[in-house]
Amino acid sequence: MLNIALFGPPGAGKGTQSEFLIKTYNLFYISTGDLLRKETANKSKLGLEAQGIIASGGLVSDEIIVQIIEKTITDHSDANGFLFDGFPRTYIQAYILEGLMLKLHTSLDCLISLAVPEDESVSRLLKRGQSSGRSDDNETVIRNRLKEYNEKTLPVLQFYKDKGIFHEIDGTKSIEEVNLDVTKIIKNELSKKLFNIVIFGYPGSGRGSQGKAIAKKFDLEYVATGQMLEREIASGSPTGKKILALYESGQLVPDEIVVQLIERKIENSKDVKGFIFKGFPRTLVQSYILDGLLRKHGSQISKIIEIEVPTLELINRLDERSKTTNCMPYDNSTAKIVKRLQEHETKTVPVIEKYNQLHEVVKVSGLGLFDEVFERISIEVEKAIKSMR
Ligand code: AMP
Repeated sequence: MLNIALFGPPGAGKGTQSEFLIKTYNLFYISTGDLLRKETANKSKLGLEAQGIIASGGLVSDEIIVQIIEKTITDHSDANGFLFDGFPRTYIQAYILEGLMLKLHTSLDCLISLAVPEDESVSRLLKRGQSSGRSDDNETVIRNRLKEYNEKTLPVLQFYKDKGIFHEIDGTKSIEEVNLDVTKIIKNELSKKLFNIVIFGYPGSGRGSQGKAIAKKFDLEYVATGQMLEREIASGSPTGKKILALYESGQLVPDEIVVQLIERKIENSKDVKGFIFKGFPRTLVQSYILDGLLRKHGSQISKIIEIEVPTLELINRLDERSKTTNCMPYDNSTAKIVKRLQEHETKTVPVIEKYNQLHEVVKVSGLGLFDEVFERISIEVEKAIKSMR
C-alpha cells in the first residue's frame, strides 16, 4: 500500500495535485472536506452538525471526522493505497490516522506539505470562489480558515517531522513544477518499499524452480525455508546441529528456529528489492508469523501466487523425479509422496484460504512447459509491481 497525505493551507493546490496522484498511483482519494460537503448535501445528522462550522471557516470536531473517515477507510481496505487531502488537520487527527492505518496493517508513507504564503492563499481562494460555488470561499471565511490552519493545523507538521516522513515543497511554483516535485518524493518512497511475493503450490507444482527463476528475473531474494534448514545443517552451526537431531528423531523443526532463520535472512538482506517466500508459511501459525515479521520491517505481502496442477499430474511428476538424480530424500517412496500431498492439503490449503479472504490469491496454471508457466507468473508479478509504482 502507498499512503500519502497532502498538506497545506486552503488554496495550496492539494485538490489539483490529488487528481494527478490518484490516477498515476491508483490511490483511493479521501478528502474530508468533500465527505463533509456530501453529508451536508444529504442533510444527514453529521452533515447538519458540521454545516454551521464549515460556513464560518472553523474546524469540524474530531469526533465527526472520525465517524466520516473510519467507514470510508474500512470500506476500501483493499485499496492500492490512500491519498488524504485535508486530513489530518489537528494533532488529535494525526493520532487518529495512526490508529486507522494500524487497523489496516499499514502506515502513512509520507506527508507532503505544499507551502504557500497567506496572501497567495487568499488570492487563489477568492479566484476559486468566483466559480467553485463554495460559500466558504469568501474573504471573511477565508481569513478564518487560515487562522484555524495556523493555530490548529500547522502544529501537526511537528508530528510528522518527528516521524521522519515530512516533506515540504514550494507550492507557489506552477502546477507542473509542483507535480514534478511531488512525484520525485513519491518515487523515492516507492523505491524504499519491499516487494514481497508468497508462492504456493502442492509439492511437484514447480513452485521451487519457478520461485528461483522469478527471484532472479525480478531481483528478489529467494527465501525457501527447507533449503535454509539444509544449509544450516551443512554449516555445522549449533542451530544446524539442533535441526539435524530433530530430523534424525523424525520430529518437526519448531517455528522458533524457522523464524530465527527468516529474520536473519531479512536482516542480512540490505538493499534488496524484496523477497519471494517458498515453503513458508506452511501453517496458519506461520502465516501470522510472516505477517508479523514483515510488519516489523515496515513491510507486507505484496502478491500471493498459487501454482495449480491437477493431483494426478503432481503424483506423476513426483514419481518421475524420484527416478532422477533430483530425487529428494522426502520423495523416494509413494508413501512419502502421498504424505506430503496430504500435509499440504490439511495444513497449507487453509492458509491459502485465509489469504484469499484478506488479499487476492492469484491462481496460475502450472501445466505446460516451464517457460510457459514462468511467463504466466511473470505477467502477474509485473502487474503487481506496476500497481505498486
Ligand atoms: P476543505 O474542502 O478541505 O477546504 O474543507 C472545507 C471545510 O471542511 C474546512 O474549512 C472545515 O470546516 C471542514 N473540514 C474539512 N476537513 C476537516 C478536518 N480534517 N477536520 C476538521 N474540519 C475539517
